Amino acid sequence: MATETLERPASAPATDGDSVLQLKNVTKVFGGGIVRRKLTIAVDNVSMSIPRENPGITAIAGESGSGKTTLARLMLGIIPATEGSILFSGRDISTLGRREKLEFRREVQPIMQDPFEVYNPFYKVDHVLMAPVNNFGLARNRREARDLVVESLETVGLRHQETLGRFPHQLSGGQRQRIMVARALLLKPRIIVADEPVSMVDASLRATILGSIDLLNKELGIAVIYITHDLTTAFQISDNIMVMYRGSVVETGRVEDVIQKPQHPYTQLLVESIPRPDPKERWGRDMASQETGSDASDVGCRFAPRCPYVMSDCTVDMPPLYRMGDTQAAQCYLHRDESLGTVASVSDVFKSGG
Ligand code: SF4
Repeated sequence: MATETLERPASAPATDGDSVLQLKNVTKVFGGGIVRRKLTIAVDNVSMSIPRENPGITAIAGESGSGKTTLARLMLGIIPATEGSILFSGRDISTLGRREKLEFRREVQPIMQDPFEVYNPFYKVDHVLMAPVNNFGLARNRREARDLVVESLETVGLRHQETLGRFPHQLSGGQRQRIMVARALLLKPRIIVADEPVSMVDASLRATILGSIDLLNKELGIAVIYITHDLTTAFQISDNIMVMYRGSVVETGRVEDVIQKPQHPYTQLLVESIPRPDPKERWGRDMASQETGSDASDVGCRFAPRCPYVMSDCTVDMPPLYRMGDTQAAQCYLHRDESLGTVASVSDVFKSGG
């Protein structure tokens, strides 16, 4: 866990004026067309911001279908928001001109879950690394381009002698994923959105890849959005966390507060589901076995069909995010009376006196 960064006041999310990326009441709805009539709210009214200076690593955690990957794609500008706005350096990304769009694409870089999707098996890995150098005009000549590539490979702990000149299938999964980190690094972005970057590699390689991502944040000051279903790795490398369920942020705060003292019943379920290292100890309850309903509620709290504490109010209105301290908030009526008020944005959780 990045305790060092947790102590840095500037690692808290930004206020409006000093954020590099800001989401304001962003909602994404899929479906509703001729073929697929049913509407699915993939992301529901999410507000947050990423600070320009000394950003931390923010994990966005949740099960499959929680909306975390849709949120990542919205941040990357891959899909447009249905409602709300996404601001890059104060400007709505849906209104950016050609040059500004290019700058946005350079400054906000993805690291995808499956590096195979990025590689063309007929090209050597050099092509993957040279493409951004050429597309964004990062070097004046071939020698400079190669130096940049070699430098980025070394930054993520790869030897260019063992990687350049090879085809993707000649590299290990860990090497391929680290090349993706090196590729993102070439563009010196402000933000990296890493979508399940270690879900397809061996446990032995996870630490190395996460170490590379951590280094980008700590050494180079790049903001990292770490999308994951795995609370263990979120705890290891993140400063802050947003837990999502059916499109909503149900709990957010400093990662150590949220994981060690989860306040939302869904987060508690996720934390209990983390396998224990002691073989004699019972593994956490299987999340699937906790389901008391098959689908999310359309009104009220989305977690109500699965919640063991559901009350009558829960099925009427969606609860707000209740502040539970200086750096934690939970979207649950259980905390209505003891809370310190409500917060409108995930980022507001880190502003005192809310
Ligand atoms: Fe459970 Fe109600 Fe809290 Fe939702 S608001 S998590 S249903 S207690």
